Amino acid sequence: MQIAPSSSVADRPARSGEDVRGLNVEVHSFPRKRYRHLCSGGNLSYLGRVTQSRAVVLASRPAGEPGPENFRIEMHDLPPLVDGQVLLRTIYLSLDPYMRGRMNATRSYAAPVEIGAVMEGGTVCEVLESRCSGFSAGDLVVAHSGWQTHAVADGQAVRRAEVGSAPISTALGVLGMPGFAAYAGLAEIGRVQPGETLVVAAASGAVGSAVGQIARIRGARTVGIAGGPEKVAWLDEIGFDHALDHRSAHFAEELARAVPDGIDVYFENVGGPVWDAVFPHLNDFARVPVCGLIAQYNNTPPATGTDRLPALMTAINVKRLVVRGFTQRDLVASHYEAFQLEMPDWVEHGRVAYREDVVEGLENAPSAFLGLLRGANFGKLVVRVAPDPTRSAT
Ligand code: NDP
Repeated sequence: MQIAPSSSVADRPARSGEDVRGLNVEVHSFPRKRYRHLCSGGNLSYLGRVTQSRAVVLASRPAGEPGPENFRIEMHDLPPLVDGQVLLRTIYLSLDPYMRGRMNATRSYAAPVEIGAVMEGGTVCEVLESRCSGFSAGDLVVAHSGWQTHAVADGQAVRRAEVGSAPISTALGVLGMPGFAAYAGLAEIGRVQPGETLVVAAASGAVGSAVGQIARIRGARTVGIAGGPEKVAWLDEIGFDHALDHRSAHFAEELARAVPDGIDVYFENVGGPVWDAVFPHLNDFARVPVCGLIAQYNNTPPATGTDRLPALMTAINVKRLVVRGFTQRDLVASHYEAFQLEMPDWVEHGRVAYREDVVEGLENAPSAFLGLLRGANFGKLVVRVAPDPTRSAT
């Protein structure tokens, strides 16, 4: 990482009168214990105000895999606190795959991080100072204050870190955004049922490990896919029925053996070759929550070449497309009665127009059918095989 603060205070002693107590302890050797004592007491009981934040900004947009040159560390002045705001000290910063997308100029469901702007990210912070009712100095909150040591945030944009007896860092993981993505994606889209087979990739990660374990609680057979023997061993340890290494030379065969009854839910976290191996095993009516496609995130520009599958998967993910195959037969039980009630009435009253292309004589059926495949018909193609007693001859 390029450590070249644009502001002058990071690489020199503080000037007389300059308040640097809140600066990152690495830069200013401010004793951590003392700092905590000063900043985590009751309302404004600390001795000085934090005036600056040390931040990681986006220096440039990466082409392909990002490198340290894409980031820069800077010192930023903190704005004065106004009513409704809190001053935060970052304790934990969450690093998540979605951040790679924010480094691109392309807009997806969220705006990109601008060049020179602080990298976006979820945080667990301590409130150092509050002008917002409901928060006091010392409170621990979850915020989205980005890659920086301190931030001023609206009180409405933060919430208390509530993790019970778990470590507060879990508010960024299993009890936070990734855990919720797993839980909600399974409930809303995966709808896993007892006895079904669920497969998840990036299974040792924040989302995948939660997906597999929730599915097991719901009574499913779970197959986790991860990279390398250590991660695979951990999947066994936490109760996956099968754990596979996607880097194995025989991955496709191992997957086939692990899902003898096919796959009912594939929780998609990665895309790429793992998806290629998985999709032939999808059962009828399988559900595929497309949560993320980390294998594609370094594609620049996204989804090049004649293979449009990565672009399709990205569109499904980013635009939250619902892509569901069906045959009308599946829907008779649920929709036919309503169809019989509404459609004839719409046709009779001209609210639904229709057009027919009537071909005379059974002998013309083959050529009419071949024409249909070329677009020669205009409207519903039918063959009049015998005179229609309900229509007068024309
Ligand atoms: P993880 O903690 O799982 O970390 C990422 C993991 O992805 C890596 O450790 C690696 O695991 C795997 N990976 C990376 N590159 C590849 C590749 N080329 N092929 C296969 N696997 C790869 O991250 P999260 O749990 O936070 O996120 C998992 C996915 O969920 C991501 O795609 C992310 O974008 C998405 N996500 C979506 C959310 C939503 O709201 N839709 C919310 C949160 C996350 P391994 O070594 O096992 O291959």
